[in-house]
Amino acid sequence: ARQFTRPLNDLANQFNTLLSAIAGAERVFDILDMNIEENDEADASDVNAFKGKVEFTNVSFSYEKDGNTITDANFLVSPGETVALVGPTGAGKSTIINLLSRFYEPNQGTITIDGISIQQMTRKSLRRAMGFVLQDVFLFEGTIRENIRYGRLNATDEEVIEAAKQANAHKFISRLPNGYDTMLSQDGSGISQGQKQLLSIARAILRDPSILILDEATSNIDTVTEIKIQEALQRLMKNRTTFVIAHRLNTIQHANQILVLQAGKIIEKGNHETLLTKRGFYFSLYNNGEKEVG
Ligand code: ATP
Repeated sequence: ARQFTRPLNDLANQFNTLLSAIAGAERVFDILDMNIEENDEADASDVNAFKGKVEFTNVSFSYEKDGNTITDANFLVSPGETVALVGPTGAGKSTIINLLSRFYEPNQGTITIDGISIQQMTRKSLRRAMGFVLQDVFLFEGTIRENIRYGRLNATDEEVIEAAKQANAHKFISRLPNGYDTMLSQDGSGISQGQKQLLSIARAILRDPSILILDEATSNIDTVTEIKIQEALQRLMKNRTTFVIAHRLNTIQHANQILVLQAGKIIEKGNHETLLTKRGFYFSLYNNGEKEVG
């Protein structure tokens, strides 16, 4: 699993413990509100929806005391753009996301959204504006309805179903004997990997984030479900600033911007055509790996 999923999984595990502890109770905790009010700056304020302009200026960061995991990252993303993060394993793709979602703070430089430093925002409101669709879909013990509603806890049943429709998940759910009331276990046994992805997309659609983080699944999913996933993702990504940790050539080719990372540095940026004509690192990744660019 990716590094940035670790903090999310920790929260998720706490959530599961809580859910078991309060089984049957009416109250449900918003896990994204848990544990994240630590260390907000005194002058931090809540932000609402973003337009989604994201800028990194001279951002450097290290997990350890010395060395740099990210060195002098600079890039600007316009609202609604799709950015593909591409590069070898360990290059720093997840770390960029960790910094944007403030699981870690840069040692130097600034990160702004809509021109406001994210350090001036409360973590809670920042993360409310973000949505994650990850390779390892987080499910908890509960019904399919509850698992989708987790994207936005005050959503009505109708909104849950509408999101599932948008996510191409409604049909498979409706075919289950208990439909939306089907109980899922934490490991989601009984539904396929691809169906888990569709639930995760439904959840994100319900959440309606200004900034979407997408960690493309590498695992093999059958072609029919794969097409459903791609279609649902297109709908989800439309008009939203999206960061994709990209593995699929198709996603990368259609991204507005590709950030090519190598050993913590953004060594090339541009769209697919521009990068190919440079005949640099991206070009060689593309020619050597075809589908393995991420
Ligand atoms: P992959 O495609 O394999 O997920 P990546 O490009 O996403 O790689 P990162 O996960 O951002 O790379 O990791 C960048 C570097 O930081 C790697 O050397 C990694 O080992 C290190 N690293 C990542 N997370 C941590 C952490 N929590 N503590 C210490 N080092 C870390």
